[in-house]
Amino acid sequence: MSERPNPLAALLKRQQRRQELRLARALHPIEWLDATRVRVDGRELINFASNDYLGLAADPELGAAFAAAAARRGGSGASPLICGYTKAHEALAGELATWLGYERVLLFSSGYQCALAVIPALIGRGALCLMDRLCHACLIDGARLSGAKLLRYRHLDLGHAETLLAGRPQQPALIVSDAVFSMDGDEAPLAELAALAARERALLLVDDAHGLGVLGPEGRGSVAEAGLAPHAVPLLMDTFGKSFGLAGAFLAGPAELIEALLSEARGLIYSTAPPPAHAEALRVALALVREGEARRQKLRGLIERFRALAAAWSIPLLPSRTPIQPVLLGDAERALAVSSRLQAMGFLVPAIRPPTVPAGTARLRVSLSAAHEEAEVEALATALAEVLAEGTKPA
Ligand SMILES: *Cc1c(COP(=O)(O)O)cnc(C)c1O
Repeated sequence: MSERPNPLAALLKRQQRRQELRLARALHPIEWLDATRVRVDGRELINFASNDYLGLAADPELGAAFAAAAARRGGSGASPLICGYTKAHEALAGELATWLGYERVLLFSSGYQCALAVIPALIGRGALCLMDRLCHACLIDGARLSGAKLLRYRHLDLGHAETLLAGRPQQPALIVSDAVFSMDGDEAPLAELAALAARERALLLVDDAHGLGVLGPEGRGSVAEAGLAPHAVPLLMDTFGKSFGLAGAFLAGPAELIEALLSEARGLIYSTAPPPAHAEALRVALALVREGEARRQKLRGLIERFRALAAAWSIPLLPSRTPIQPVLLGDAERALAVSSRLQAMGFLVPAIRPPTVPAGTARLRVSLSAAHEEAEVEALATALAEVLAEGTKPA
C-alpha cells in the first residue's frame, strides 16, 4: 500500500521556495511612540506605512471615548442577530447612513469579512462578477466564494468591461471596483462605472476604503467627490481601519437590500459583533472626520509637497492625488533593498511585491498622513532621492 502524503509537505515546500526567492512574508512587531513615530527592532522610525490618513488613530478624544465605553463593558457577547447588536451599533449605523445619504448601513468587523459576507449573498452560480484587475484581494475572494463567473477587466478599462459583459447578455451581473486603488492610489471613473452598470442593468458595488475621510465634502468619500447620488452607486462599502483610525467596516445601500442581507450574509450572521465600545469610539471618529477639514487640508498640502519634490528629483512616482504615493521600482529585490536602506535612515516605507502587485511592478508604498509634519515628508523625499541615486543594489 502506498503511504498517505503529509498534508503539510506542499505548504512547507512552497515556503522554502519563497525563502529562496526572498518572497517569504514575516511579522515585525512595532511599538508606537506617538502619532507617526514607531520603534521597530530597537530603531526609531517615522512611519510612512500606515493608512491612518487623518491621524485619528492617536487622537486623544477618540481614545478617551473608547476607554470610557470599554470601562462599562468589554465584548458584545454574541453575533449581531443574537444579542451582539447594541444601541451603540444602531446609533453608529444610523449616523453613517444619514451622513452619506444612504437608506441603511450594515456594520461588519472588517472589510475583508464584509466582502466575503456580502458578495456571495448578491450573486451566485450562473451570475457574472465584473471586477477591475487591481481590486482588493477581499473582493476577489468574495467573488470566488460566490461561485459566480469572475471576469476581471483591465485596470480602469471600462471598454474592456463592457466587451466582457456584452458577450453574456443573459446573465445577472455585479460590477465591483475599488474607488481608490490600494496599491496604486489612483481612482476609478465612478460616473462612467455607474453609467455602464445602468446601461447593462448590472448591480454596482464600490469599495471606498481609501477615499472615505479623505475625499469629498466632510470626507464623505469618492462617491460624494464625484458628485454622484447614492442611487448611482447603490452599494457602497467602506472601512474604519484607514481614515477612521480604528477597525471594522460597513456596507451602505437600499433598505430592502440591507434587510435581505441580514438573512444571507453568513460572515455577519455567524460572527461575534465588535464590542459596543468600539461602536462608541467610531461615533467619535465620525464626528472628527466630519469636522476634519483642517486635517484634510494639511494632508493635501503634504501630498502636493511630496509630489513636487519627487518631480524635482526624478523619483518615479505613479500618478496619484491620494495619500497613497507609490514609488515604482519594478524589481522585487530592488524594492526590498531600497526599503531597508530607508529603514536604516529612519523611515518605515514598505516594499510591496508580487503577488500583492503584478510581476515587474514592485514598489515602495508611501502613505502620507495629516499627522506627518512637512519637515518629515521633506526628509523622506530627500532620503529617497539619495538612495535611488546610489543605485542601491540588493544586499
Ligand atoms: C483595507 C481594505 C480592505 C479590507 O478592510 P479591512 O477592514 O482591513 O479588512 C478592503 N478593501 C480595500 C480597498 C482596502 O484597502
